[in-house]
Amino acid sequence: MPDSPPSPRDTVSARGPVPGHARRAAGLALLLGASLAQAEQAVPGDVVHQFAPAAGFMAGVHEGPTRFGELLRLGDFGTGALSPTDGEVIILDGVVWHAAVDGELRRLPADARTSFATLKRFVPDRRLTLPAVADFSAFAKALDARLGSRNHFHAVRIDGRFQHMKLRSVPRQKPPYPNMRALLAQQQVYEAKDVTGTLVGFRFPSYVAGVIIPGWHFHFVDADRKLGGHVLDLRANPLTAQLDSSRALSLVLPDDPLFNAAPIDEAQTAPAAAGPDNPTSSPPTPSPARQKP
Ligand SMILES: [Zn+2]
Repeated sequence: MPDSPPSPRDTVSARGPVPGHARRAAGLALLLGASLAQAEQAVPGDVVHQFAPAAGFMAGVHEGPTRFGELLRLGDFGTGALSPTDGEVIILDGVVWHAAVDGELRRLPADARTSFATLKRFVPDRRLTLPAVADFSAFAKALDARLGSRNHFHAVRIDGRFQHMKLRSVPRQKPPYPNMRALLAQQQVYEAKDVTGTLVGFRFPSYVAGVIIPGWHFHFVDADRKLGGHVLDLRANPLTAQLDSSRALSLVLPDDPLFNAAPIDEAQTAPAAAGPDNPTSSPPTPSPARQKP
């Protein structure tokens, strides 16, 4: 497995104080290029931490140096990808779960690494009562209508029973790594009926595109911790959601040869970067659907 070696300049090494502008920011703190240690020190409180920018993952950066054990210092709730990309990752209650290409769940060891992850310490601010929903689009609309500001960052946890759950995962990748379009051409889709479990998800505004993928993005683990994946569609009776909203975001860039040399700018401007429409995503209206790791 072509994993990246531990970097001598590992992201956990302390690098001194954070830039003053980040420290002073009372509301939104966007720490571009912060190390993990800086992210940990800089913005105490309600912060979403992003490891590796979405644009890198889209461009095929499918390895990363950061261990999940380190990530858990910053949060206990999130979604992400394994390094090298293989399946889907769900972080719930401080446990890191891996859904293989067929959806089978296993716990990841602390030294497993991530190529891309979004996480936070989940402390719910509010409970939202959602109506019965027939599909993902109705589900996303019901959430949107109850959020408060769509310009903030929202984490949502939903524990419940789902009449139908359509999930996907992806097989293990190896170099040369594919871009998002080619990765999703390999996805496997599977379904569950009358399944109890937990949705772990986020919503970000379109202005963060490139850093984090905008719109709603949910991963799922069932109550038995046997099945999981990235949510493509769902149907459910009324649900209660726990909402944790934030106004701060930290971006930690991997210090890793693959990321450092990746032609992300070029991929961003190439026509293929727009990607095909993806029914899995629910971007902020009216922007087109985007691909999600
Ligand atoms: Zn996903």
